[in-house]
Amino acid sequence: MNIIVIGAGIAGLTTAFNLAHHGANVTLMEQGNIPHDRASSFDQHRIIRHFYPDSEAYGRLVEQALAAWNRLWRRIGRIHFAETGVLAISTEAGDWSDRSRGALERIGIAYESWSQADLQARLPQLSLPDHATGVFTPSGGALFADRICTDLARNLRHNAVDLLPKHRVVEIETETGRVVTESGEAFKGDQILIAGGAWIGKVVPALAAKITTYRQAVLYLTAPPQWEAAWRQSPVIVDFGGASGAYALPPVNGSDLKIAVPAHRRLGDPDKDRSLDFDEAETILNYLRGDLVDVDQYRQLYLKTCFYTFAPEDRFQLHREGRLIAYSGCSGHGFKFGALAGEMLAEVLLGKADADQVGRVLGGY
Ligand SMILES: Cc1cc2nc3c(=O)[nH]c(=O)nc-3n(C[C@H](O)[C@H](O)[C@H](O)COP(=O)(O)OP(=O)(O)OC[C@H]3O[C@@H](n4cnc5c(N)ncnc54)[C@H](O)[C@@H]3O)c2cc1C
Repeated sequence: MNIIVIGAGIAGLTTAFNLAHHGANVTLMEQGNIPHDRASSFDQHRIIRHFYPDSEAYGRLVEQALAAWNRLWRRIGRIHFAETGVLAISTEAGDWSDRSRGALERIGIAYESWSQADLQARLPQLSLPDHATGVFTPSGGALFADRICTDLARNLRHNAVDLLPKHRVVEIETETGRVVTESGEAFKGDQILIAGGAWIGKVVPALAAKITTYRQAVLYLTAPPQWEAAWRQSPVIVDFGGASGAYALPPVNGSDLKIAVPAHRRLGDPDKDRSLDFDEAETILNYLRGDLVDVDQYRQLYLKTCFYTFAPEDRFQLHREGRLIAYSGCSGHGFKFGALAGEMLAEVLLGKADADQVGRVLGGY
């Protein structure tokens, strides 16, 4: 069976990886390089956490996601994960972090409640309000996303997957399985998967109607010397409290300290809106100005633009049409499920699993 996978982000790479291990004949087509540094999946790290205040189904699915990553580490012979633990800071009753506590309780994930004094003792680099509290899970942490994508691409090359970088697909005939690229080349697949990230709506109109694409920039920093050790020992901080949704990944396993602010986003097109604003680092840092001690001593390393697709209720979308499966797994939380999605999508493409059923699992139902 010939299977064409379009898109070399985490979903396309892991699906191709699983298909190759099942002995399928796989072609991976990507408009950029493989891996692609402009894919949403290509950044130093992504968070894996059980915190899902508004979806017990996704919270529970994280256990399966962790198991799938463990299977992947065994198969590629490397672990690209640091289990730092994950902390959410609550500054108001009923905020995201506070609601996460109840959700963790309901799905049976072990957590600790930290007082303001605990927070201050463990994270002296932060300056938090007196009423701040913390919810900490020892499980979860940082997945080293660009290293995962790079290793997967290398593995695919060794496993004789036909890698076609610089092949932008412009048309998919869902009934015949014919795929046409921008340069006019045509390919034929028995089954086709497109996992096109923020570009998917350009080729799959049925998904364009369901997703909204946002541009976001994340900021990499060096902490001042007095706080370097504290940051190296820090858990992932998935939420600083407040409405901005600001979060931080610590500089672990050779990675850099990153902060990002979901509220700092705007509608965008991944082909057009990549340039940075003149004062963008300052804008991002300002969201955390009250939370970081010695904030003006942090040194900017670099900024990276990245694109999200958001779907209603932040659910991943799986659309089947003839020979085509279109998967949009983002809404800002899709990387952690990348290994699991790759296993499940491969089973669907091989006819071993039902697309609707897998769509429901990955859709968080
Ligand atoms: C700032 C930011 C922070 C995030 N943080 C987290 C987090 O902490 N935890 C988490 O779990 N998730 C997080 N996410 C979400 C996660 O990064 C995405 O859900 C995931 O990377 C999506 O992977 P993907 O393979 O579906 O898409 P992508 O990684 O975008 O890959 C799609 C690929 O398809 C290619 N492509 C598209 N169209 C075509 C075409 N027509 N022809 C050929 N190639 C094509 C693209 O070039 C691209 O390489 C975050 C996202 C962003 C933007």
